[in-house]
Amino acid sequence: MARLLGMSTTEFLSRHTDHGGTTLRFGEDGRCSLVTPEGCRVHPRRPLVCRLYPLGRATDGEGGEKFALFPKEAGCKAEFGEDGTIETFLESQGVAPYIEWSRRYGDLYRRMLGLLDRLDVQGKVETGAAGGGGQAESRGGESGREPISSWQDVDASLAEFCAANGLAIPEAIEDAIALHLRAIGEWLDGLESRVGEKPKDPQGAKRP
Ligand code: SF4
Repeated sequence: MARLLGMSTTEFLSRHTDHGGTTLRFGEDGRCSLVTPEGCRVHPRRPLVCRLYPLGRATDGEGGEKFALFPKEAGCKAEFGEDGTIETFLESQGVAPYIEWSRRYGDLYRRMLGLLDRLDVQGKVETGAAGGGGQAESRGGESGREPISSWQDVDASLAEFCAANGLAIPEAIEDAIALHLRAIGEWLDGLESRVGEKPKDPQGAKRP
């Protein structure tokens, strides 16, 4: 989305997200900050949750997934029907790469939770309307407008990783995401080596 709008992820997080960078910003009128009278400003790169609507998707962390159908929002101009399948709908919305990225970031997230468990750190982060004031690692602040983790700022964290490793920052978003995933993975490898052995099953640290 940041690429499409011609801004850095630093600026995008600041201008268009809330709750420590975990949700898109909605105004007091209940409208997304990216909607215009002509439609979504980031439609070609809209996030997974927007691609899925009116479906909701839940995963169990072990490859299982379930879908639910949300009721149509008042004022929604989308066409709802019951003559297709979930599979064809997902294909039409181009969700495949987004679900794959979600899976890979989810694996890293579960490794982070596993580390917090082993360090006996209470890592729960409140991302409710009051802002991202967490109990331990949250950096969301009172306003909830700062990223909970510096890793969420893909451009800034990649710039740091590339400078430290003598790498060029990838141009294409797919390459940037792949390197971002690698950077987080290497950071976790380092932390895990300092606190003990890596768990055999990274999904083992599964949490609700
Ligand atoms: S599709 Fe998503 S990103 Fe686009 S305007 Fe709607 S809520 Fe915002």
